[in-house]
Amino acid sequence: DKNTLDGAVSIVTGGGGDIGGGIATELAAAGSDVVIADVDILETEYNQKSSAEIGGATRARELVDRIESEDQRAHVVDCDVTKADQIDAMVDEVIDEFSRIDILVNNAGVITATPVEEMAEAEWETVMDVNAKGMFLAARAAIPHLRESKGTIINTASIAGEIGAAGLAHYCASKHAVLGLTKSLSLELAPDVTVNAICPGIVETPMWEDVLTPEIGESYDETIDRAIPMGRDQTPEDMGRLAVFFAENRNVTGQSVVVDGG
Ligand code: NAD
Repeated sequence: DKNTLDGAVSIVTGGGGDIGGGIATELAAAGSDVVIADVDILETEYNQKSSAEIGGATRARELVDRIESEDQRAHVVDCDVTKADQIDAMVDEVIDEFSRIDILVNNAGVITATPVEEMAEAEWETVMDVNAKGMFLAARAAIPHLRESKGTIINTASIAGEIGAAGLAHYCASKHAVLGLTKSLSLELAPDVTVNAICPGIVETPMWEDVLTPEIGESYDETIDRAIPMGRDQTPEDMGRLAVFFAENRNVTGQSVVVDGG
């Protein structure tokens, strides 16, 4: 059987993380070459502990070793999505090595939990820069290549892109921004490029372990039981399968799909 994404080239930012790793794995399983853009050391104190301890680019290299096969290539580029020069260099490197870009997955993101009254300006800026500006910068750099390939942009937003949450004003603002960017870009880029967003519900990652579970003050399992009608958390593979769906469907654009078990 021919895989649906054979010959495609994907970029996944933050692909060293759990959700990005699941998306990269599913895109590769559907036949795509995969480039992961991630960083080992963030120049900020506002990042979840685990990502800082085990660098994203290092984890991405381990993932790439697992998904590379004889037919498909996988590659890691060290790239901070908040830096336009690094994004532009990353896109140039992908074109040099792979000649095309079909799928851009803007997935890199960070979270902290702080009430607005106590929030430092730099904390607001870091979350907005990584989660919102990073997606703009990567889209801007990749658009000419995506127009050429009739490709797709997939942005990882969140249910925090649709609802508010106390203690997460900066994060919710950044994810609402992702959905605004998604809708607007889908209009700008039609009919060449489709643009959609994935809104994950609860995926067990460092975001939960380090930030959200301590903030909510109940165990992770208690949160799942209380908050999710389907009674189960979501997986990186769930997000990856939706990404493959978006990549395969030229008639779906400007949409966000919530994958949160109800
Ligand atoms: P994660 O910490 O496992 O992954 C995030 C990755 O982004 C890490 O590898 C990190 O190194 C990378 N990253 C951070 N800043 C970066 C930068 N400036 N440049 C490049 N890479 C950078 O967390 P995750 O849960 O897999 O998060 C992935 C996305 O999913 C994020 O956008 C997050 O907001 C979103 N999300 C997660 C959940 C959840 O329940 N885990 C729910 C909704 C949305």
